[in-house]
Amino acid sequence: TIVLGIESSCDETAAALVDGDRRILAQAIASQEAEHAPYGGVVPEIAARAHATRMAPLIEKVLKEAELGLKEVDAIAATAGPGLIGGVMVGLVSAKALAMASDTPLLAINHLEGHALSPRLADASLEFPYALLLVSGGHCQILRVEGVGKYQRLATTIDDALGEAFDKSAKILGLGYPGGPAMEKLALEGDPEAVPLPRPLVGSGEPHFSFAGLKSAVLRAAESGEHKPADIAASFQQAAVDCILDRMRIALRNMGPVNALVVAGGVAANKAIRAALEELATEHGLAFTAPPLPLCTDNAAMIAWAGIERLAAGGSADPLDISARPRWPLDPDAAPVRGAGV
Ligand code: ATP
Ligand code: MG
Ligand code: FE
Repeated sequence: TIVLGIESSCDETAAALVDGDRRILAQAIASQEAEHAPYGGVVPEIAARAHATRMAPLIEKVLKEAELGLKEVDAIAATAGPGLIGGVMVGLVSAKALAMASDTPLLAINHLEGHALSPRLADASLEFPYALLLVSGGHCQILRVEGVGKYQRLATTIDDALGEAFDKSAKILGLGYPGGPAMEKLALEGDPEAVPLPRPLVGSGEPHFSFAGLKSAVLRAAESGEHKPADIAASFQQAAVDCILDRMRIALRNMGPVNALVVAGGVAANKAIRAALEELATEHGLAFTAPPLPLCTDNAAMIAWAGIERLAAGGSADPLDISARPRWPLDPDAAPVRGAGV
């Protein structure tokens, strides 16, 4: 099986060809960091326009690189949500046009499912069910991944996502956009105990995350002028790790048996978070998987892989009139949480 993956839900335009043996036959990614940097965050209108000019050449590039035509592609998988709707529409409409022109099945993929299954693209030994911490720019959730399309959500954030907290804190410290990698780098030079920062909800027994208070505390610490930026960055990262470990412990108690502890999404690129989770997995006698960094942040290989997983599970193609969705929860049965996005 060969699937063409298309991703355009945020600020990376990406295309990739992946096969059923977990081989990434070709991939191309165009980041819009430079376009959005002056604004300190992603501007939806700029993103949509950039996706529109780059998408077709990127798709052409990966097909050429893999020396494949659409006739040899079994399905076209595109992110259909959740995300910035203008960008999602560019990718989905591109996929629809190619699907129609080449009579190839269309797979409308949930971007979060792409993140959730990405560890299985990286690790052939990872079997369902697994405990997943999905940490990205827009989401912070703990899920029991039971199979393709089968997700039980145990926790989400009641305010900011962790990636968002990294980005906002980076902006406060003047580190620019995107903030996560810059915060991680600066934290290496700081003392994680130097700045007293809150661990929102830790010890409360509450299953969900909250990061808005942490970000506000970073702002106060920065404005006080009493701390080195590196100490603030290190202390912020340590607070994030402590929150994650506390919530993961609760979730592991409340979910059924799992084979592994897994982390995915852009923030999964963070080495301190990966190391802390690996230790937690060992403590619980669980295997640990974190995808290689390029598979953590947005990419099209994970979207193609989600398509391959759906086909392997006997799932069907989507109609060409399927709509893009700005919101699209992975677990529609999850109880609503105050303030939470999806
Ligand atoms: P979503 O997947 O929720 O729709 P998104 O697609 O914008 O959001 P991703 O591309 O998965 O998010 O992740 C981007 C986020 O990951 C940004 O907030 C970025 O700061 C964060 N991030 C990336 N690398 C690191 C790192 N090394 N440490 C911490 N955060 C990081
Ligand atoms: Mg991005
Ligand atoms: Fe993402």
